[in-house]
Amino acid sequence: MHILLTNDDGIYAEGIYALYLELKKIGKVTVVAPDSERSSVGHGITLAHPIWHKKVRRRDKFFGHGISGTPADCVKFAIGVILKRKPDMVISGINLGPNDGCSVFYSGTVAGAREGALLGIPSIAISLAAFLNPDFSYAARCGARLATLVATSRIPKGTFLNVNVPNVKPSRVKGFKLTYQGMVPIHGTFRKRKDPNLREYHWMTGRMPLRGKDVRMDSNALHQNFVTVTPVRSDSTDYTFFHQLDNTLPKFFNRRRP
Ligand code: MN
Repeated sequence: MHILLTNDDGIYAEGIYALYLELKKIGKVTVVAPDSERSSVGHGITLAHPIWHKKVRRRDKFFGHGISGTPADCVKFAIGVILKRKPDMVISGINLGPNDGCSVFYSGTVAGAREGALLGIPSIAISLAAFLNPDFSYAARCGARLATLVATSRIPKGTFLNVNVPNVKPSRVKGFKLTYQGMVPIHGTFRKRKDPNLREYHWMTGRMPLRGKDVRMDSNALHQNFVTVTPVRSDSTDYTFFHQLDNTLPKFFNRRRP
C-alpha cells in the first residue's frame, strides 16, 4: 500500500512524524506537507502565487517534500508532480488540536483528506484533541489501524473518515465510536488587546462548552474519551431541499420573472 501523508501543521511538526513512523510499518509512505504551519486554511489552494518545493530531512534522513502551499495543494502537487500517479490512500495529520464539529469546515488537515477523497482516493484525517502536552503515539497507532480498515472497505468516492483521538492514556480510551459531525458554531469570541504601539487589535478565539450527552455527536464522544470516527461526505448538496425547490423554483421564475 502506497500512502500519501500530509498535514496542516507543517512538515516539521511532531504529529506528522509520529504518524509517519507507524504508517511505515504498513506501507510505503510519501510525505508531502506544507513547509510551515497552515492551520485553519480550510480547503484553499494556491493559484495567485508560485508553488515552491524542497526536500526535507529529519533525524539525518530524507523525510519528505516541503511545499509552499496548503494541504490541498500538497495532495494535488504530490499526484501531479512528485508521484505522477495516484497513491492508494491519503492520510492527513496528526493535527495538533481537535477537528470535530464545525472545525471540519476550517481545518487544513481535514481539507487534505477531502482533496484525496475528491480525487477518488480512500482518505483519512486524524487529529489529537490537545494543545498542551500532546502525546501522539497512541493516535498514530489508531491512524495506522484505521488505515487498514479503510484499505479493505469500499469507501464511496468523495467520502473520507475524520478521526479525532482524545489526549489521554490509552487505558482511559473507551473505544472507537462511529459519530456524526457536530454543527455547533465555534470561535465566536474576540479578545481585545493592545499592541506595543497601543493600537487595539482583536484575536478570534473560543469554543462552545460541551454539555451534550448524545455520544453519537463527535464533540460529545471525544469529550467522553472515545476515538471518534466520522464518515464525511464532500457533496454538500441538500437533496431533500433540492426536491422541494424542484417543484417551486420553475413556477417562481415564471410568476416573477427577474
Ligand atoms: Mn493544524
